[in-house]
Amino acid sequence: MNWLKKIMSGRYGGDQLSLALLILSTLLTLIAQWARLPLLGLLSYVFIGIALYRMFSRDIGKRSMENYKFCMLLSPVYDWIRKFQSRSKDAKTHKYFKCPTCNIKLRVPRGKGKILITCPKCNTQFTKRT
Ligand SMILES: [Zn+2]
Repeated sequence: MNWLKKIMSGRYGGDQLSLALLILSTLLTLIAQWARLPLLGLLSYVFIGIALYRMFSRDIGKRSMENYKFCMLLSPVYDWIRKFQSRSKDAKTHKYFKCPTCNIKLRVPRGKGKILITCPKCNTQFTKRT
């Protein structure tokens, strides 16, 4: 593995954007095979080429900035997935409500009957059945 270290020294290497490009390329290859579209298969090589170019690039600052922009573009998706995971994890024990005044989401325990909920942000009180 010393030869790989020598080749990759001073080069950017892999990151989230390169991984996404490789996954996209693989998906395009599979779709091209399945749908028998040779042009789509050629397009997948373009994405592999871009991913390899980024990995072997010596302009680390520029590649980091590209990856940062890519991650910022995808951050709402990551946030949504994280929220969905945490909500589905405690869906049996907690219930979520929106404050009618400031619209923030409030988490309250399930199975407590009709309770008076006080918003911690604006102190609005409303009654809900849990
Ligand atoms: Zn509120």
